[in-house]
Amino acid sequence: MEKLITYAKMEYQQQDPQSKYECLLFDVDDTLYPLSSGLSTQCTKNIREYMVNKLNIEETKVPEMCAQLYQDYGTTMAGLRALGYEFDHDDYHSFAHGRLPYEYLKPDPVLKTLLHSLPIKKVIFSNANEAHVAEVLHRLGLEDCFDDVICFETLNPKNEIPNPDSSKSAVTGDDDVSKRAVVLPESPVICKPFENAFEQAFKIAKIDPHKTLFFDDSIRNIQTAKLTGLTTVLVGSSQKKKGVDYALESIHNIREALPELWESVKKSKGGRYSRKVAIETHVEA
Ligand SMILES: [Mg+2]
Repeated sequence: MEKLITYAKMEYQQQDPQSKYECLLFDVDDTLYPLSSGLSTQCTKNIREYMVNKLNIEETKVPEMCAQLYQDYGTTMAGLRALGYEFDHDDYHSFAHGRLPYEYLKPDPVLKTLLHSLPIKKVIFSNANEAHVAEVLHRLGLEDCFDDVICFETLNPKNEIPNPDSSKSAVTGDDDVSKRAVVLPESPVICKPFENAFEQAFKIAKIDPHKTLFFDDSIRNIQTAKLTGLTTVLVGSSQKKKGVDYALESIHNIREALPELWESVKKSKGGRYSRKVAIETHVEA
């Protein structure tokens, strides 16, 4: 009988989903809702306007600069700060996000049901500001689906952002492009895709990256995520690339791509049940 109980316990432990994934970590923009909503296009427009109107950057240079900074730094804002532009972060966010046509986003009961059906800790990890994240979750009807939110203000508390360190500024060497050593100036803003942003998020939300699934639409974020030990899910494309463990066209495909999340939940209940049966059998014997 002792053997039977031991076996039942082992089976439970092997099938326990909690031992594989304890947390689901989600980006917000273009991940919880599709790029086709048009919200991100409007956001880019606002950022470009900010660069022209508030930072007096030459209009013809703005589109390319905006795209390059986004690619290099994760957010255009982080890139602008790295280049030495000084501006109030709240002012930037209200200009870029505060005027967005949030009515483009509609409630998503399908996603809500999917998230609620998984008894696993769920955390938001966004480079955007708190008000934007709250508004998006509100519009999608997902306010009650997450246990924690890591956003711009979490990683960049007010008055704690240092000015860019000029000693770490850009190093461009040779005029010959092929020989040029490009060292980007450091940004004082902490955000994805940089590893320190992930490390801080893990600490703040008490996340073990080796037991966490990370969802994001940015391949750069995914690739850093992979280095930190997270299991990665690229959202918005079904094409797998380096660093991508799973690739989903839409967040709605989470169940088809990762059925084990739900199967494990069932097995977990089954596991608990069979352990109980083993003990009861012992009592009856
Ligand atoms: Mg995104």
